[in-house]
Amino acid sequence: MPRETTQQRSDRIHAEYAVLCRMFPEAICTLDFQTPFQLLVATVLSAQTTDVRVNSVTPELFSNYGTPETLAVANPEHIEDIIHPLGFYHTKSAHIIKLANQIVSDFNGIVPQTMEELTKLAGVGRKTANVVLGDAFDVPGFPVDTHVIRVTGRLRWRTDWRDKHPDPVKVEKEITQYFEPSEWSDLSHRLILFGRTVCTARNPDCESCLLNDTCPSAGHPL
Ligand code: SF4
Repeated sequence: MPRETTQQRSDRIHAEYAVLCRMFPEAICTLDFQTPFQLLVATVLSAQTTDVRVNSVTPELFSNYGTPETLAVANPEHIEDIIHPLGFYHTKSAHIIKLANQIVSDFNGIVPQTMEELTKLAGVGRKTANVVLGDAFDVPGFPVDTHVIRVTGRLRWRTDWRDKHPDPVKVEKEITQYFEPSEWSDLSHRLILFGRTVCTARNPDCESCLLNDTCPSAGHPL
């Protein structure tokens, strides 16, 4: 029997999220982009690297290849040169050129707005699709990345918190049930910002964390 009931967990989650809202009033996407297509490309490029690093290469990338039509016919080696600092540049170059071709040929040059269609594009998984849905189209989306998994585990927002490598789709379903769809995108941004700055992977700053009076990982009993 868990000591914390479902209702108690829900109340605690909302109280802790209210603190995160005060800590991070601006729940913004930290990737730079001008169009849904550019956000899609930047998000694909952000795998295994930081948004800051992605933002350092996208000005040159987008000034030359900022539309599906221009990227679709790009020389792969030129793209690799531009995105080289991001790592996995060969695979990433192939993915973004292919997805640009798919958008041109299958979607009349327009980024699709559904999970089903987005995840048909090269290099686009559920997380990337949720970023694009939430930040480019205002369609409810809850991207689950490594920060979201870690923070929701430490805070015991998810019942499988012992699992360090849970199924992201299960995490998405369990966490979003506590929130209105209109809140999902901002919720994800705030959990990511919190995970980057306070509840970090190696050195969580529990001593000065504003959630340490309720967080189970800081010793608060449930
Ligand atoms: S108290 Fe520590 S483990 Fe809990 S949320 Fe804060 S930083 Fe993370």
